[in-house]
Amino acid sequence: MSAAAPDAPGRGAGDRLLDAHRKAGILAEALPYIREFSGKTVVIKYGGHAMDDPATAELFAQDVVLMRLVGMNPVVVHGGGPQITDLMRRLGKEPEFVDGLRVTDAETMDIARMALMGKVNRDIVTSLNQHGSYAMGLSGEDAGLLRVVARDPRLGFVGDVHRVDPAVLERVLREELVPVIATIGVDDTGQAYNVNADAAAGAIAAALDAEKLVYLTDVSGIYEELGDESSLISETDVAGLQRLLSEGKVGEGMIPKVRSCIDALEHGVHRAHVLDGRVPHALLLEFFTREGVGTVIDRTAE
Ligand code: ADP
Ligand code: MG
Repeated sequence: MSAAAPDAPGRGAGDRLLDAHRKAGILAEALPYIREFSGKTVVIKYGGHAMDDPATAELFAQDVVLMRLVGMNPVVVHGGGPQITDLMRRLGKEPEFVDGLRVTDAETMDIARMALMGKVNRDIVTSLNQHGSYAMGLSGEDAGLLRVVARDPRLGFVGDVHRVDPAVLERVLREELVPVIATIGVDDTGQAYNVNADAAAGAIAAALDAEKLVYLTDVSGIYEELGDESSLISETDVAGLQRLLSEGKVGEGMIPKVRSCIDALEHGVHRAHVLDGRVPHALLLEFFTREGVGTVIDRTAE
């Protein structure tokens, strides 16, 4: 928030009091939401593009820490496609895609692991821990968290989530820590695979019986017609998403989010949200104010 400094020139005591009243009003408005969500698990998929801007990334960290401090159980799941591509190029390897999916040979898998665990995961964990000792980084390889099966031999080590063992997350949450998960999975032989972070977030939310699944991305929400700002869908349900998919309204990038939302909602998650991660404090706005932002998806329309 960019409220003027208390001692900004030209501002009198009256203005400052008004400001203080407004702030108190905002905090009071948050009270019923804090009560509602206390003790609830919220899985947040943090997008590769939404985390590009360091200033917004810092606000994201504040929001997640605040959620933790008011008694929620936030779980952060992140991707890092652009960061993998960047590291590949720096190492002199040109990425190759088939139907929008990265062809992942053994060397690419090594690079993906370095980018996701060595860089992206560390950056998110460190920014959360600027505020205290809150976050703990994990990979889907840890303690059997993400079990995968190979998707297609042409793609190499690209895995689909086959089973989630949430036990390690439940332990971390009991310690009141925020798990930050890089979406690398393993198959039955222990081979590492790159996993789509949207799909992993949905599967983790279902396994944790999460209250909410949130996708922070780089658009305002789900559009009926991509490119037409006025067609933003503020509220829909599983049937609505299925219609959008069957009518071909959902394009690349949004497809795995929509599919995983449907899956998670059908497996016990109460609500899903697609929010604009570029908006400062998108999470606080959605959870603690009357002004919802983005698209909210319920199981069925009321
Ligand atoms: P992220 O890093 O968050 O996963 P992606 O680029 O993979 O970001 O996915 C978000 C993108 O999905 C948007 O930028 C948009 O171009 C695309 N998209 C496709 N269809 C839709 C739709 N119907 N509504 C909103 N976004 C859509
Ligand atoms: Mg994506």
